[in-house]
Amino acid sequence: MTHAHPLHVDVEVPCLCCLAPQPFHFTALSDQVVCAQCVHHIGAEKSERRDAEHVKLWAARWAVSESAHEEYIAETDALLVARDIDLTALRAQVTELSAVVEGQFADGIDGVRALLQNDLVKRAERNTELARRQIDWAMGGLWRIAGLHHDDPAQPAKCSCGRTAGSCAESSAIDALRQALGDWEKKNVLLLQGGRRHGLPADHPAVLNQRIR
Ligand SMILES: [Zn+2]
Ligand SMILES: [Zn+2]
Ligand SMILES: [Zn+2]
Repeated sequence: MTHAHPLHVDVEVPCLCCLAPQPFHFTALSDQVVCAQCVHHIGAEKSERRDAEHVKLWAARWAVSESAHEEYIAETDALLVARDIDLTALRAQVTELSAVVEGQFADGIDGVRALLQNDLVKRAERNTELARRQIDWAMGGLWRIAGLHHDDPAQPAKCSCGRTAGSCAESSAIDALRQALGDWEKKNVLLLQGGRRHGLPADHPAVLNQRIR
């Protein structure tokens, strides 16, 4: 009877007698697939002794595999416990770091928001200031024109420039703005008197008065 196992290499294949996986090193296809312990089972040996030896062999193998299995279980349990400890530590670390990151993030957002708001407010303030200065500048010009062309109580029929009332183009051009000019002037005189920044021209009587005082 021949076998189909590879030749000239160490292999582990079931012994045809004890059926346990055993080491073999075949050199011919006609080699018997019977392990060293079973060689004497072949032939005229008593089947009782053969069976007893097989049972002993299997019992020993089972004991080895059983203790290996127990060791494996113990090792695995220890590993699991170690993993649990690692996991607990890592979870605590994640919680801690999350809190830190959240705190920093919130702080960062608040900081950025404050900066943006500050910047927006500053820009709006700057624009308001620019607009105010332009109005002051235009009103200063109007004030000068109004100083040259206004009603003269001493000569009700004439513009202060000497032209007949109604014939002064400058006077009629600024007539619609006289109310606004008056309001602006009053407001700025109050600012001046309050010691605040005002937009009156340097040669405005209120400014000159203030300087003298
Ligand atoms: Zn065997
Ligand atoms: Zn055997
Ligand atoms: Zn005039």
